[in-house]
Amino acid sequence: MGEKHNDFLSLNQTKLSMRNLITLILFLCLGCKSTTVEVSEVKKVESHDARSIISYLASDELSGRSTGSDGIEKAASYIEKRFMEVEIKPYFSTYRDAFDAKDKKGFNIVGYLEGTDPNLKEEVIIIGAHYDHIGIGRIVDNDSIANGANDNATGTAAVLLIADHFARSRSNKRSLLFALFSAEEMGLLGSKHLAQKLKDQNLNLYTMVNFEMLGVPLIEKDHKAFVSGYDLSNMAQKLNEYTGTDLIGKSEVAVKYNLFKRSDNYPFYNVFKKPCQTISSCDLTNFDFYHHVDDEIDKMDFNFMADFINELIPGIEKMSSTTSKEIVMHE
Ligand SMILES: [Zn+2]
Repeated sequence: MGEKHNDFLSLNQTKLSMRNLITLILFLCLGCKSTTVEVSEVKKVESHDARSIISYLASDELSGRSTGSDGIEKAASYIEKRFMEVEIKPYFSTYRDAFDAKDKKGFNIVGYLEGTDPNLKEEVIIIGAHYDHIGIGRIVDNDSIANGANDNATGTAAVLLIADHFARSRSNKRSLLFALFSAEEMGLLGSKHLAQKLKDQNLNLYTMVNFEMLGVPLIEKDHKAFVSGYDLSNMAQKLNEYTGTDLIGKSEVAVKYNLFKRSDNYPFYNVFKKPCQTISSCDLTNFDFYHHVDDEIDKMDFNFMADFINELIPGIEKMSSTTSKEIVMHE
């Protein structure tokens, strides 16, 4: 009796589990399908996405984001919150990499998205920008807050929007480290600190793409932006090849002012001797408000920014996925 009862039960269980299995398979197939669609249809960056980030970072409420101020603390929390929302993980035990900036406390914010390839994920690409600015500037028309919209709320926005993209698409085979630096304006202090720390931890760095001032288009150029240290590596050529556009060019003004040494790419280049360069669309000839209280959102061209980021993203995708490290320093 017991046995029969058990047989009956197990027969029913088999029927049930078959039905469950079929449901499960159907569910999984549907799941697969919708995942594929999502990945191939990752939303493009729109001008209002850039506008909303920059409007906050460059608002008077953040008082010009000088290192150690209440204003930059708000910017740091905002960046952390955005990383959390899209599940970009903290690279260290928290998102914050603390350092001493003269008599102040500085925080770089560092997020991490592991690559999808079991081998290539060991190699890291840094996507960076400084998020600090100079705080209070020389008073012009009763305004003393240097909002730093172009310098460098725009670069920060580029990093956050690129992070959003890869968090959704998961199309990076190499790992991506998103670094927002503080105390750049005090002499690249945040990036010097982080570069040395990562070197001491033997980070396997492939390359670094840093962003500065992307809020205004270049004037009368075929390319949308330039890379500092153009002749040092094949970064510009490779990005143009990967994107199938003439996106990145050379700037003689950048050479003249040695912009390669004037942003956060430089400490990374110094420590790692790898292609670590800054991409910018502002060579100081197309923007009159560098370190000026009028560097504000009304001067920013958000359509240009969105177009630029959308064109660049496939380049970073390819950069993260080539089987060998194609971007190299020139001998
Ligand atoms: Zn800057």
